[in-house]
Amino acid sequence: MFENLSERLSGVFDRLTKQGALSEDDVKTALREVRVALLEADVSLPVARDFIKRVQDEATGQAVTKSITPGQQVVKIVHDALVATLKGEGEPGALKIDSPPAPILMVGLQGGGKTTTTAKLAKRLTERDGKRVLMASLDVNRPAAMEQLAILGSQIGVDTLPIVKGENPVQIAKRAKTQASMGGYDVYMLDTAGRLSIDEELMTQVEQVRDVATPRETILVVDGLTGQDAVNTAQNFDDRIGISGVVLTRMDGDGRGGAALSMRAVTGKPIKFVGLGEKMDALETFEPDRIAGRILGMGDIVSLVEKAQETIEAEQAERMMKRMAKGQFNMNDLRMQLEQMLKMGGMEGMMGMMPGMGKLSKQVADAGFDDKILKQQIAMIQSMTKKERAAPQILQASRKKRIARGSGMEVSDLNKLLKMHRQMSDMMKKLGKGKGGMMKQAMKA
Ligand code: GDP
Repeated sequence: MFENLSERLSGVFDRLTKQGALSEDDVKTALREVRVALLEADVSLPVARDFIKRVQDEATGQAVTKSITPGQQVVKIVHDALVATLKGEGEPGALKIDSPPAPILMVGLQGGGKTTTTAKLAKRLTERDGKRVLMASLDVNRPAAMEQLAILGSQIGVDTLPIVKGENPVQIAKRAKTQASMGGYDVYMLDTAGRLSIDEELMTQVEQVRDVATPRETILVVDGLTGQDAVNTAQNFDDRIGISGVVLTRMDGDGRGGAALSMRAVTGKPIKFVGLGEKMDALETFEPDRIAGRILGMGDIVSLVEKAQETIEAEQAERMMKRMAKGQFNMNDLRMQLEQMLKMGGMEGMMGMMPGMGKLSKQVADAGFDDKILKQQIAMIQSMTKKERAAPQILQASRKKRIARGSGMEVSDLNKLLKMHRQMSDMMKKLGKGKGGMMKQAMKA
């Protein structure tokens, strides 16, 4: 079940921790779980597939350069990619309502929550933004709908255009415009008629209204629980009418929010608000972060990320300490040390942190002993075979040439690296020797 995504991912990470580093297969395994979760969250198949592919490329690329915390990388990449996909341009919830009276056209299918959302939004604009708002219902086929808006208006203290029997939607829209101008309103909202499904008559009617009102915003209101249907509806409305944003309603329900991702990916339109209940203040600006957490089923993604990171680092450090205490310090250990140094900002950064070393750190940088060298050293170790990394003493001339070529370096550079490894290895042995050895003491602590 969906609820278990974080458990499932933790399981994957447990396996990763034991292996130490993240391979392409590991990324694939983790992303398979994410894909299932996306589908269960109602994200459409092509969107999920696309998304996973993008993340896969990104994750695998990153794993090569910094394999220090693989679990963290996958979750974070997935989370960040979700947020990036969900995010629209500009401030969340921003509406173009300068130049009064600014018309806002509300469109959508019947039952999606259009009338409720019109009133919620009017309340928000009035109370939060201090705007004077006029609402008008254009649903001439359903007198009850017009009544509903009038009732909501009086509840929230927002004016509604008086109902005049026998007018068509275009006439009502014109009257709303006139009244809004004369009455000094900042915004007027047109609540168009909804149908149970999209039909030609509805679209023509909305088009005519759009043409007389020239709305600053055309907001589509859709039921977030209807998943793929919501996306199709949005696509249809956008093709015919042109929408500027979406409000997803019923996000208080147990839907997984996957519609939001598909909506963004398919229509490219920003989700401006989400409806979180029937009450008039149950409308919030759309927060990509929150929805991303919801889609992943991990409200607590950050702590999971941190936990994964800590476990991996602690285990790696412990393994290395144990080996060093035994006087074993191979090229893999050296590589880990070099990567750690890179992570801490290279030699320059590390020395800069030590008191009295600030000046020296600049000299180190000037001498070219910096990130670049660390990266070159890591590249040389990467060009070694597994056997060579475990036992660098087997490196003879031909092997050295191959490694140098493979990493784009000179044999002399490789010799320097090997010398450094020997020196460090000797030092480790000394430290680890005897009962009072520093390493053993450190491990007891
Ligand atoms: P319209 O036909 O599109 O105008 O839909 P309505 O505004 O009349 O809403 C239909 C029903 O959905 C009403 O009972 C609303 O109270 C309810 N509704 C609207 N938005 C939300 C929401 O965000 N959450 C919940 N739980 N109910 C909502």
